[in-house]
Amino acid sequence: MRVTALQSTTIADGLIGAIGHTPLIRLRRASEATGCTILGKAEFMNPGGSVKDRAALAIIEDAEARGLLKPGGTIVEGTAGNTGIGLTLVANARGYRCVIVMPDTQSREKIDFLRMIGADLRLVPAKPYRDPGNYVHVSRRIAEETGGFWANQFDNVANREGHRLTTGAEIWSQTGGHVDAFTCSCGTGGTLAGVAMALKSHKPDVRIVLADPEGSGLYGWIKSGDLTPNGSSITEGIGQSRVTANLDGAPIDDAVRIADAEAVEQVFDLMTHEGLSVGGSTGINVAAALRVARDLGPGHTVVTILCDGASRYQSKLFNPEFLKGKSLPVPPWLDER
Ligand code: PMP
Repeated sequence: MRVTALQSTTIADGLIGAIGHTPLIRLRRASEATGCTILGKAEFMNPGGSVKDRAALAIIEDAEARGLLKPGGTIVEGTAGNTGIGLTLVANARGYRCVIVMPDTQSREKIDFLRMIGADLRLVPAKPYRDPGNYVHVSRRIAEETGGFWANQFDNVANREGHRLTTGAEIWSQTGGHVDAFTCSCGTGGTLAGVAMALKSHKPDVRIVLADPEGSGLYGWIKSGDLTPNGSSITEGIGQSRVTANLDGAPIDDAVRIADAEAVEQVFDLMTHEGLSVGGSTGINVAAALRVARDLGPGHTVVTILCDGASRYQSKLFNPEFLKGKSLPVPPWLDER
């Protein structure tokens, strides 16, 4: 019998110490299909179940260091859900309260989980960023009116700094510097920018590729400087129609656009063949990693992010009625029931 286990030699100091240090998983099928090594950073293994635990911790620690957050204080944030979960858990561990503003289009599971962990949740109708009713602006106003600390994940660069110092540094050390390309999707851009900055500081010619869903303006921005979005996507937490402070100046070389059908196929493929249960943004990321690997040719190493887990999207991504309504493929094991 051969047991290949990660060696864990440390004891985490509470929740905070358990954030990050995630495994880099070799994606067998994707690697074999391309002749490359395709690695996924298992961010769904964070205590709050997503890559956003890192940003939440970095933003809170930065605010504490700047004296913006005092014991017993309140954190206010607008979020698609995962940042709210990360912030609420870190707030619980550190003795803060959390007011979370979220568009009502996000999955039931994220809403229920936020309530379960004690967030003061305010659901608002989904509105574009230019509308004053957009969840980001609502959260800023609540912070202003109540004297709470506004986390401002989109434009607070403590977010990308956290990813530069942890996610990016971990990828560099886990691969021993053997990394030719990194690709991931953007919500705030914190993950992409932070990892890009970390990797480029060691290896300037590492290729950084944005993975963009339909309905996001960033693909056009990278390709031609035109931010006008078109189309739409069922993926949650990603896609952007402006250059956030976290994205501003990030060293991004190229972009690929991934349609929902391709992302969803990838999610089901990871489930059936790798035993990895992941959400829609991970489908976009792995589909992009395959494209980048094919572009580079065999023998290269491409890293991406496995952002969060499937159980957060049971009612959508794994619901045959929902998928059929969007003309998306339904995996056979779900359709037979
Ligand atoms: N995937 C999921 C599921 C997310 O919730 C988010 C953040 N909203 C991202 C990807 C994108 O991460 P970032 O904000 O660092 O760009």
